[in-house]
Formats: sequence, structure tokens, C-alpha cells
Amino acid sequence: MPPQRGKTPKKNKNGSGSQTEPVEVYCRIRPLDNPDDPVCLKAVNTNTCILTPQENAIARNGQVKELQYQFQYVFDEYTSQKAVYDYVAMPLMEDLIKGKNGLLFTYGITSSGKTYTMTGTPDDQGLMPRCLDVLFNSISGLQAKKYVFKPDRMNGFEIQTDADAMMERQRREILPGLTTPKTPGRGRNHGEFGEHGRMSDPTRVEDIDEGNIYAVFVSYIEIYNNYVYDLLEELPHDPITGYKPPQSKILRTDSNDNMYVMNCVEVEIKSPQEAFEVLYKGQKRRKVAHTALNAESSRSHSIFNIRLVQAPLDANTDMIAQVQDQEKNICVSQLSLVDLAGSERTNRTKNTGERMKEAGNINQSLMVLRNCLELLRENQKTGLGKLVPYRDSKLTHLFKNYFDGDGKVRMVVCVNPKAIEYDETIHVMKFAEMTQEVLVTKSQQVKFEILEAPMIKKPPVIEDYIPMMTYSLGPTFPSLEVLHCRDEYTLDQLSDFLDERNRLKENLMIDFNRKQDQFRAQLVKIEKEYNEMKSRSHESQSVLEKRESYIQKLESRLRSLEKRQDETSRQFKECERERRELESKLQDKNMKIRQEKTEKDRLRSDFRNRLEHNNQQWEKNLQKERNKIENELEGQINEKQHKLNMLRHIVNTETDSDTPTARFRTPAPKARTYTTPGKIMSARSETDMSSVGKNPVPTPRSRTQTATVTSARSMHGLNKVGTPKNTPQYNPRHRRSRSSNAEIWLDHRPPGSVELVFRGHDCTVLQPKLKKKKSVSKLEVKDTKEATKYILTHQDIDSAGELETKLIKGNMLPTAGGGTAVVFNDVETLKQISPGSRKRRSSCPQPTDYDGDWTDVEDRCGIAIEGHSRKRSRGTEKVSRV
Ligand code: ADP
Ligand code: MG
Repeated sequence: MPPQRGKTPKKNKNGSGSQTEPVEVYCRIRPLDNPDDPVCLKAVNTNTCILTPQENAIARNGQVKELQYQFQYVFDEYTSQKAVYDYVAMPLMEDLIKGKNGLLFTYGITSSGKTYTMTGTPDDQGLMPRCLDVLFNSISGLQAKKYVFKPDRMNGFEIQTDADAMMERQRREILPGLTTPKTPGRGRNHGEFGEHGRMSDPTRVEDIDEGNIYAVFVSYIEIYNNYVYDLLEELPHDPITGYKPPQSKILRTDSNDNMYVMNCVEVEIKSPQEAFEVLYKGQKRRKVAHTALNAESSRSHSIFNIRLVQAPLDANTDMIAQVQDQEKNICVSQLSLVDLAGSERTNRTKNTGERMKEAGNINQSLMVLRNCLELLRENQKTGLGKLVPYRDSKLTHLFKNYFDGDGKVRMVVCVNPKAIEYDETIHVMKFAEMTQEVLVTKSQQVKFEILEAPMIKKPPVIEDYIPMMTYSLGPTFPSLEVLHCRDEYTLDQLSDFLDERNRLKENLMIDFNRKQDQFRAQLVKIEKEYNEMKSRSHESQSVLEKRESYIQKLESRLRSLEKRQDETSRQFKECERERRELESKLQDKNMKIRQEKTEKDRLRSDFRNRLEHNNQQWEKNLQKERNKIENELEGQINEKQHKLNMLRHIVNTETDSDTPTARFRTPAPKARTYTTPGKIMSARSETDMSSVGKNPVPTPRSRTQTATVTSARSMHGLNKVGTPKNTPQYNPRHRRSRSSNAEIWLDHRPPGSVELVFRGHDCTVLQPKLKKKKSVSKLEVKDTKEATKYILTHQDIDSAGELETKLIKGNMLPTAGGGTAVVFNDVETLKQISPGSRKRRSSCPQPTDYDGDWTDVEDRCGIAIEGHSRKRSRGTEKVSRV
């Protein structure tokens, strides 16, 4: 079967939507060689350190203040190697096993502890040996057989069958051992990391996919003067000078755009010990230049690459799963551990010649690294796609993928806190600060396409029962180079060697036979175990059957119970539904009740408000009415009181005026003018009989024809002006009223009417002279029997507040039914006017005197007027009524 080929899966390269993370920078401060030395840097907490300028530094750089730097973590001088590993490298190891790439480098000036941090000492190992320990601890038992994965020299791997792998093993390991004399000490001298005294790290990554098989490959390169050297390559031997100078390697890009060192030796290792052998071999070759600063100071960048190849196992065949595209079946992840050269400036090295060139180049590649990171950060900030000069140095070119593509990048900044290192340290810190702003793409966890079959635990294989068969091949084949024809020594050596080999073969045969017997015994044992298991399985079978029947019974019971449960749950649901319905009805009713109650409350309050309002209104009206009535009554009382006073006064005056002098002296309390309709004054009022029948009280149309008494008097009495002294006080002659025709008058004066009588004269103005009359205050039927005429005295206060007396006259006619009807035909009006407060109704001149005969009305008016005009001089008039 041809070997299957596999390539490193293509990594995500700045793909859209990929997550980024910053370069994580850690700071490690090494302890001082001399504890009394002044320091310029100290850790203040686990993230912060402070750089303090020294006196000379201030003077030179103008720096005066303390500088504070923050990092992912600051390890002080007391931090152990293990702690540094746990914080810095352990996550990278976990990533490596999950198929993610990582880059870890130490940066700092010479003698700042970079190599110590990266490699450490056998007693106190650094990051690199710990990584190897942890890796093998984690994948132990899951390693592929050697040479199953085979580098394809193009940065990829191919998968070989087990047979091919075995062949290769023989070819590369057993045969060379048979043909090449063993290098003295090879395989036993592990250098400073020899097995003796080495403290291995017991940590392991827990979360490991046990469905995969793993293989570890390491390579070790050095970049020196911007040349790449393979530290694991066998140096060509120069018979004269010994080793020839190594050939530099070139960098290539693989099919997935990953950078790699072409033709670089990659060694598959199966244990940490093998790894240390390789490391030691490389270290031996590492060019170490001794400088005045540090006897072991390296002028080169060393890069130790660990590549982990993994592929999923087919659970059934226990072989690597077969898929169409084998590339997708292999995952290669890489962790690069880089110990950079010292970052100090050239002039500090005090080197000359070749050394100076080295230092210059070292700084040159670090400078390029710095430029690249700065540009990368700028591009990420501004979004500009400036070209990052990765190709300017081999170092940056090789790690281009970490910054451009994906993978975690971590840097440990090593610092020697000695005060005299301040100037260099400040550059280191600035670079470190800038670096942690650079973003790199986060790696995605690798997922294999297959793994359809569920992973089952591997059954015990026959090898587990067979004791390990290890064969020593004995001494190496002697050199058969015959120096001359009598070279017995070589032949003897060969013969001894062959004898030895024969002995060894016999021993091996014995051993083989013994192991064969053991194997047979094991087989018998296995068969026995198998039979036992079989019988046990029969027993188990019957037990199982019993259990099965029991289970069936239980199941049938369970089914019936389930049925009942279903029924119950159905009923329960029904009840629940009814309950819900009732609840909803109840809620509706409650709501209605609440609404009605609210409505009732509202109506009640409305009604109460209205009632209150009405009550108030009524009370207000009543109060108003009462006030009005009270006022009216009060007015009437006052009026009456006033009239009473006047009457009293008049009576008193009358009593006092038995003599004319006395009578005339008493002035009338108030002059009055009486008006009467002219018609009545002149003759008899023509009764408008047409209207009488319709209206018991004739409309006072005659008022339009009224003339004041004053004017009447002036008309009749102008000729009497000038004789006031002879004018009688009143005219005693009274023209007979029309009502004096021997008719029987029914004089109806309602109670409370004011008497129209002059005291002592028994007459008054417009006082009707009724010969036969019967005066009543309340009309009775019997009174109407005899009477033929009817006169009603009606008194009222006019709008001006004056007393107005109306005499309403009518004929009394017997009716067919035996009753009496009154037909009104005349109205006489008597009005009293106060001259002081009243406007005169006539423009006629006021008569001053009267001398002559007056008619009834005229006389009375005249008396009144006289009274009025003379009241002050004589004071004799009396008004019959007030
Ligand atoms: P660099 O590689 O940076 O030039 P080294 O790692 O060689 O420096 O360290 C210089 C010296 O300092 C070595 O002797 C080393 O043992 C010692 N050293 C450095 N860091 C520490 C540390 N954290 N603890 C103890 N010794 C240290
Ligand atoms: Mg070093």
C-alpha cells in the first residue's frame, strides 16, 4: 500500500470574522548578583512595575519621573521557574495539543536571564524542558509508532503503514548500529540535561483527545548574522580541519503559506530523554560567542521547534482512519521557543571586528522585529495596509505567519534590575509596551472530518500478554579494513566478533524459546480465561433471562399504571379546564359586580351632590324671599309708622287748631297733589259699556285723557288769582255726584283702606257723596240685594311709591238666577304726589290763589292746592288721607 500523504491543515489567515487577541507580554525580573547593588526596576504588583531613573540617567536623558509599565504578569526575582511555566507556557502547551500554533520568545539585554528562563538548569529547568516533559506526560500511551508519520521535506507529513514504518525503523536504527562504530558516550551523555539529577516536570494536559494518535518532532535552528543554521544537521567532516563550517539554510513557503526552513532536520522523538539528547547535540553546536558582558552570552537567536502531529484513530481497526483527503486527517501544530540574542546596543558590547559585526546584525534583526511590530500595530489602528517588512530579516520572515496568520504569541521580557542597566532597560520596556498592543488572530480548534464511529475502548491486544522482547545486538561490527595481507589482527577480530555473535545468537535462541514457552503458557491461560468467561456468560445469560422476564412483568405493570395515569391526568385536565372556566366566569361576575357597585356609588354621590346643591339653592332662594318679604314688610311698617306719625301729627295739630290762627300755623307734614281724570272732573265719565261686560275693572284708557288737578284748577281758577286772601280754604259746595240719584250704593271698602275723610269736615277730595249707602268691608250676598250701585275703593302704591286710590263704580243688576251682577262703568283715580320729590305732570303755571265757585272735584283740588301753597303760611290744610 502506498504511503498516505498529509499536510498541515491550512490555518485561518485574517479571515473575516476571525477573532483577534493581543500579544501577551510578561515581565521577569532576575535577582541581583550582588544584593547591595542599586536597582532601577521593581515590581509593585502582579501587573505593574516601576522604572526609576538613576542620577546619571536623569542627567543624560532628561528623564526625571518614574515610569510605570503594565504587563500581563510581572514576575519578581523570587518567582520560580515552575510558576513562570504555569503562567506562560502551559496554555501554549494546551493549545499545541489542541492543534493550535504558538510562539514564545524571551527578549532582553544580555545577562538578563533569557536563557535561564527558556532553558534553565538541570536542577531548575526552564520553559523548554518543562514543555517537553508535559507534552510526553500528556500523550503517553497515545503515541504513534515511530516513522508512521514521516516528514515530507516540504513542511508536511505523510502517513506510512505499520510495515513501512517498521522497515524504516530497521533501516535507520538497527542497520546503522550494525555497520557504524558507536560513538563513545552517544546516547548516554545528555549534557547538562542528562538523566542524572534532572528534575522532570510531572504536569500533564488533562483535556486530551484519546481518539487520536500523536507524534512529536523537534527541530533546532539558529539565526546568526542573518543566516539560518540547522543545529541538528550532521556537520560534514573535514579530514584536515575537523568539522567544516555549516551551510546556511534558506526559508521557504509551503503550500499553506507557512514559512519553514528548507531541508531542516526534524527528529521524531518518543520521550523527553530523546528530546534532551537532541537539544544537547544542538547546544553543542550552537555558536556561542564570549563577550565582555557575559561569558556565555549568545550572539545568535536560537529557535527550538516542537511540532505535534496528530491523526484520528479508526476505533475498529486501531489504525489511522482512512479518508479520501488525507490532508484533512492530519493536524500539525507547532510551538516555537525562541531565545533571542541580547537587545543591547552595539556600542555597549565593546567588540571589534567579527564580534562587532555579529552584534550589529543581532541588533539589526531585532530592529526589524521592532519595526515590523510597530507597523503591524499602526496598520491595525489606522486600517492602512502598509507593507510590513518581514523579509528584512530572517527572524521576522520566519515568524511572519504568527503575526500575519494565527497563533498565540507570548513574550517574556527579561530584565536585569541593576541600576546601571537603566538606559538599556528603558528601551526594552518601551518595546515590550508597544508589543502588547499588537493584535494577532486567534487560532481555531482543529476538528477532524472523520470520527464517525463512536470511540470505544481499545480491547486488550495480544502484546499485552507477551513479555517485552528486547534484543541487544551486541558489540558493533568491527572494522574490516585489512591493512595488509598478513593482517591477522583484523581476521582474529572478525572471528572473535563472529563467535561473540554466535554466542549471542544461541542465547537469543534460548531466550526466544523461553519466551515462546511463556507465550504458549499465556495462550493457554488466555484460553482458560476465555472458557471461564464463556461459562460465566452462560450463567449470566440465564440470570439475564430471568431478569428480562421480571422486567417484562414490570413493564406490563408499568404500562397499566401509565394507562391509569393517563386516565387520571385526562380527568384532571378536564377538571382543571372546568375550574378555569368557572374561575373565568367568577371573575366576570366579580367584575360586573364591581362595575355596578362603582356605578351605584357614582350615582349616589351624584344624587347627594344634586340634593345638596338643590338644598343650598332652595335655602338661598328662601333666604332671598324672606329677606325680600322682610324688607317689604319693614318698608310697609316704616311707611305705616310714618303715616301713623303724620296722622298723629295731624290729629294733634287739629286738636290744637281750634282757633284759625292756630290751625293755619300748623303746616301740613307734606303737601299733596291729587290728580283725577279730566273727564271725571269736567262732568261724568262716559262709561265705555262695550268693555264693561268684558272686564270688571275697566282699562284705564281714560288716563290718556287725564289732566292734573293743577291744570284743571288753572283753567277754572285763573281769574281767581290775585285774591288768595279771600279764597276759602276749601269749597264747601259739592256738586252732586252722579251717584247721588237716590240709588242705594253699596260702598265696598276692603279692610285696611285709608279713610278719605277730612277731619272735622266729613268730606274729602273726590269723596263721593252717596246719599244712600251701605258701607261694607267685606262683601256679603245679602248686601247686594238692596243696592243698585256698587262702588269699590281700591288703594295701591304706584311705581313712584305714592298712594293711588281708585273708585271703581258699577251698576248692580239682578240676574235671572236670582243673583246680582255688577257692570262696572266708571273708574275714578285719586293720586297723591309729593311736590318736593316729584316732577310736575303739567307745564301749566302753578295757581297761587283761588276765588270763586269750584266744582266738587275742583274744590277739593283747590283745597289741596291751597293747602299745598299755603301750608307754610297757614298750615291749615289737612289731607284726608295719607
Ligand atoms: P541571558 O541569556 O539573557 O544573556 P542568562 O540567562 O544567561 O542571561 O543569565 C545570566 C545569569 O543570570 C546566569 O548565570 C543565570 O543563572 C542567572 N539568572 C538569570 N535569571 C535568573 C533567575 N531568575 N534566577 C536566578 N538566576 C538567574
Ligand atoms: Mg542567553
